[in-house]
Amino acid sequence: MQLSKFLKRNDSARANEPHNVGVPIVLTASVIEMSDFNLNPFIAFTGGFPSKIVPMKILRKYWYPITPSNDDGSAVFAPYGLRKIEAELIEEFGEENVVTCTPHNLGKFVGRETKAVGISTMDPLGIGFVSRTYTSLVGFGSEPIAGAEFRNLMKCPIWKKYKPNIIVGGSGAWQIVKGGMQKEYGIDTVVMGESDCDAVNIFKKVINEEPLPKIIKTKKPMLEKIPMIKKPALFGVVEITRGCGKGCQFCSPTMRKFYSFPMEKIKKEAKLNARAGSKMVTFQTDDIFLYKHRERFVPNREAIVKLVNTIGKIEGVEYLQPAHAALSPVVYDTKMIEEIAPMLVEKGRWECHGRKVASVEVGIETGSVRLMEKYMRGKALPMDTKDWPEIVVQAVGILNDNDICPLATLVVGLPEEREEDTIATMELVDDLWGSEIFFVPLFFTSEEECLLNNARQADLHQLTDLRWDFFAKCWSHNIKTWAPEDQGKIAVGSMLLYMLYYRWKHGAKVARPIMRLADFPKPLLMARSGTQNPHHKSA
Ligand code: SF4
Repeated sequence: MQLSKFLKRNDSARANEPHNVGVPIVLTASVIEMSDFNLNPFIAFTGGFPSKIVPMKILRKYWYPITPSNDDGSAVFAPYGLRKIEAELIEEFGEENVVTCTPHNLGKFVGRETKAVGISTMDPLGIGFVSRTYTSLVGFGSEPIAGAEFRNLMKCPIWKKYKPNIIVGGSGAWQIVKGGMQKEYGIDTVVMGESDCDAVNIFKKVINEEPLPKIIKTKKPMLEKIPMIKKPALFGVVEITRGCGKGCQFCSPTMRKFYSFPMEKIKKEAKLNARAGSKMVTFQTDDIFLYKHRERFVPNREAIVKLVNTIGKIEGVEYLQPAHAALSPVVYDTKMIEEIAPMLVEKGRWECHGRKVASVEVGIETGSVRLMEKYMRGKALPMDTKDWPEIVVQAVGILNDNDICPLATLVVGLPEEREEDTIATMELVDDLWGSEIFFVPLFFTSEEECLLNNARQADLHQLTDLRWDFFAKCWSHNIKTWAPEDQGKIAVGSMLLYMLYYRWKHGAKVARPIMRLADFPKPLLMARSGTQNPHHKSA
């Protein structure tokens, strides 16, 4: 079928039969990936927790309520990556032939004329860093929530009824190939890599009824080919940088070509999100300090201060949230932190010990200089790797002094990790004791698109007593620092259940760290009161 003929026929057909004809190209994502977690990006990681603890019905209602729909059934907000693809497809095929909707509304848009369904996913099988770690730690042998929701989407009966071509992409698409689930889930094509340059051609082939390979590895896009979104993104996401270039061997973003996006583009996307009712703008970046960086990753203070202040002042932006930040630039240019902190705190979504604060995710990963030199030689740039533990302590101190409370990942079980490395990381956690920081210890996971993609992954069975102690230490810190004294009774009950379960399943050794927890941490950074469901001004 030729494209022009197809579009013409569809326009007139749909005018008379809006619901059973279908839209030629439908884009969607699983229920959990279509939620903004009540505008709390930091608890989105709980999608990696086991699915059989709390009934999914309750989670869907309270924990990850789905994004609302417009009158025609299309999604008000959608994942940023999906919005990028949507923008390209609209440009090529016209707005009337492309729709993005939640799984709840597939029945409105998938019909006999639907040729292709594009599904974006970040963690379809629940085998990313967070999912692998916390599903195996708190167990019950069930798959992670993110995996269970993706399964629900793929088992939707509408696929069998209308048999559209199903194309799955997104940062977690590799999991489907690695996990051998393509056939089981009836996926025609898995797209791995950035799709900015390839999406149109892929969908064009489907529409022209040309065969597509089962797996497509995409080309790296050029900056000018990366489209701007046309419709609002969940969390008000706007991409400020892509890639990194520091070369950590467990990291997939570093495999992408590095770009800083032009200010005008960032401003337009932020305004689009704000106008649509998103109270939050999230800077999508692997490190905000990479934005227009200078040689050897020296931060560009002027550009960063201008970026934060310009976007923070856009009408309607109540919360400004950088996704990630590196620690070395904080020490390298403390003045830069002092200059951006007032806006980040004013636009902070979080509250800590009764005061308004900002937050950002940072990567500590290890306290071992040996492991840093082996796997993360560039991470400390523009400073020196050998000073890493001191850099971390100083940076966290500077951030706290400026009312920024970071959430920090640490990686356990890197290949050839020795006991001395674990001890070094535990010492670093000791040095940070009392700081306003939330630790997220994770098992090393060999993601497809990273230099260590063939390395053996860490798992529960490799957890020596020392590593158990390390996990327990991190979570004890979190509870001591963050658990409110008068909250969490229900959560405490859950923890007791875990404890009993683990004692039964693995014996006292496994129960020990959980027993130390004594209480369950409430989300580190409590959303400020009066901001429930704040994504929508009308709510
Ligand atoms: S510094 Fe962060 S984003 Fe950059 S390569 Fe290392 S882990 Fe990846």
